[in-house]
Amino acid sequence: MDCLFCKIIAGEIPSTKVYEDDVIFAFLDIDPKAPEHIVIIPKAHIPSADAVTADNCGDIGHLFSKIPEIAGARGLTNGYRVVNNCGEDGGQTVGHIHFHLLGGRQLAWPPG
Ligand code: AMP
Ligand code: ZN
Repeated sequence: MDCLFCKIIAGEIPSTKVYEDDVIFAFLDIDPKAPEHIVIIPKAHIPSADAVTADNCGDIGHLFSKIPEIAGARGLTNGYRVVNNCGEDGGQTVGHIHFHLLGGRQLAWPPG
């Protein structure tokens, strides 16, 4: 499958891995938008949040259950933001569902 993030999971494209288990993979964003910017993805190729179903939502639940551990390991003790961009209007540029974990500074709200 011609998917950038599936290739990162497979090690065909290099990344700086932050966390991995049987279900999810987390790595540093190549173009960080905050001092800490981690991308967390399920290993299953789910195209976007709009493709989450009763059958695959367990992987997403597992992903969220690991966010405190990943955030803690990255030193995000003062809070952080979890972002999912979905579809064209949402600003999604890679068609494999992913969650941005952002922190390390006060983040503006609302986003643009
Ligand atoms: P989005 O715009 O929400 O689809 O997020 C895609 C993210 O993937 C962006 O923040 C990119 O900087 C990031 N990205 C793209 N290519 C790579 C790569 N090879 N390694 C790490 N992060 C990447
Ligand atoms: Zn994929």
